[in-house]
Amino acid sequence: MTLLRLEDLSVTFPVARRGAWPWEAPDLLRAVTDVSLEVAAGETLGLVGESGSGKSTLARAVIGTIPASSGRVLWEGQDLAALSAGRRRRHRAEVQMVFQDPLAALNPRMTVGRAIAEPLQTHEPDASRDERRRRVGEVMEKVGLSPKLMDRYPHEFSGGQCQRVGIARALVLNPRLIVADEPVSALDVSVQAQVVNLMKRLVKDMGISLIFIAHDLSVVRNVSDRIAVMYLGRLMEVGPARPLIAAPAHPYTRALVEAVPVPDPARGAVRAAGLVEGDIPSPLSPPSGCVFRTRCPRARPDCADAPPALRPVRETEAACIHPIAEAAHA
Ligand code: ADP
Ligand code: MG
Repeated sequence: MTLLRLEDLSVTFPVARRGAWPWEAPDLLRAVTDVSLEVAAGETLGLVGESGSGKSTLARAVIGTIPASSGRVLWEGQDLAALSAGRRRRHRAEVQMVFQDPLAALNPRMTVGRAIAEPLQTHEPDASRDERRRRVGEVMEKVGLSPKLMDRYPHEFSGGQCQRVGIARALVLNPRLIVADEPVSALDVSVQAQVVNLMKRLVKDMGISLIFIAHDLSVVRNVSDRIAVMYLGRLMEVGPARPLIAAPAHPYTRALVEAVPVPDPARGAVRAAGLVEGDIPSPLSPPSGCVFRTRCPRARPDCADAPPALRPVRETEAACIHPIAEAAHA
């Protein structure tokens, strides 16, 4: 069952041009352009792309904190922009967010127990104090924190523990979708895998859908059922995680796959193979045609003609008119 559907979603931000007169129209920064995507109930979608590719903006459109400039966000088939007040309140409880910097996301003067209970107070104000403490204790155990730590403050916790608090806070209302925006990017590499595995286990056990955002494909590969790759606001490729990584059809996906750090005994180190050359163009004036063509090793003149639509290539869908034909690692 489809829980969330994005239909040609675009989000633009008006930005004042430097040196412009006040009466001049602002430039439009295209943060997300024409993204169509679905998330099924219980499914984990990995969302990857370099910094600036529009991942956080897409996340904010999904949780409803910024409106679509065009296109639609459908929650259980209903347009988010047209929900009744009551349904909108329910949507806010059903979709929860986990943020990148767990300590910054927590109020330093609030015990972690109260931080976890806060969404309950907002959405289930009739629950008694005992009931709230019981629910908080329960969810703390789920994320691997002793309920005895309920009355401690965030600064007494490690980064990994703070993120467990952030996850507990997202879980306490029994949401249907969690949007985790780079939830492990600020954590030590040694604890990243623990937190990723915890989230993976929890959402599968509880039947929750998850959008797991990362700039690094290696972080999402083990947690995702499907992966969506974004570049400069557009979807480049989407498909089941395994074939998308084993045999990417889009040159940008291949670049991300090759940027995955792999142990390289010959050089006695981890090889972080260079991503494609050059910087991401400005989203104020994206290249015509395929937005990736200015950095694409396979670009040809006709790539400038029109933005390619997603189309099936082997087991994934890629927005590329010259996709990688061979199964790379076959
Ligand atoms: P990502 O999360 O993939 O790094 P973002 O969604 O944060 O990407 O940003 C996409 C683009 O939108 C960037 O160029 C960013 O500078 C721009 N952007 C994001 N939020 C705003 C905003 N509120 N106003 C203007 N530009 C924004
Ligand atoms: Mg971001």
